[in-house]
Amino acid sequence: MKKKWTDHLWIWPIIYFSLGFFNILFAWLGMIDFILPLILAIFGGNKMFCNQYCGRGKLFRFLGKKLKFSGKRPAPAWMSSKYFRYGFLVFFMTMFGNMLYQTWLVAGGAQDLRQVLKLFWTFKVPWNWAYTAGMAPDWVAQFSFGFYSMMLTSTLIGLIVMKLYRPRTWCTFCPMGTMTQGICKLKNGK
Ligand code: SF4
Repeated sequence: MKKKWTDHLWIWPIIYFSLGFFNILFAWLGMIDFILPLILAIFGGNKMFCNQYCGRGKLFRFLGKKLKFSGKRPAPAWMSSKYFRYGFLVFFMTMFGNMLYQTWLVAGGAQDLRQVLKLFWTFKVPWNWAYTAGMAPDWVAQFSFGFYSMMLTSTLIGLIVMKLYRPRTWCTFCPMGTMTQGICKLKNGK
């Protein structure tokens, strides 16, 4: 079967994380992955983003299936349960809200810019080479560090579950997937 351009989108997360390694302000590009799925779900009532355009899902498939890095075992049933999926969504959005709050504190001068990544919402990793003070307002840079941390953390979790289970295990509880699925259900009256 002839390949479509979207089949190559697995390269997008690699480009994204590489750009953010050299300049953290590129983290803002990740907003495309945040907003586009919602727009497609709200206006189209479908999961076109997951099915066609998600670079991360394609990366897991590429690494897990094509390069055979996946454990290929079925994931535990609880991982795809409604409670876990929605629980993880609530947790993820709470962490997202906290990241916005930190950005707001920096914008208001109540907190200094922190040039670190926070992996797994816990471990602080210095990342100061990727930003030169004054390149952008501090809050813009703070958002970049926070958002890049979330993107990297979720990708690392996805890689771990890919290695342990099937290539796209992350997709069973991915917050964007859960959100767009919920929107589609509401929109289609199911
Ligand atoms: S569930 Fe998440 S990672 Fe998987 S394809 Fe959809 S948006 Fe991408």
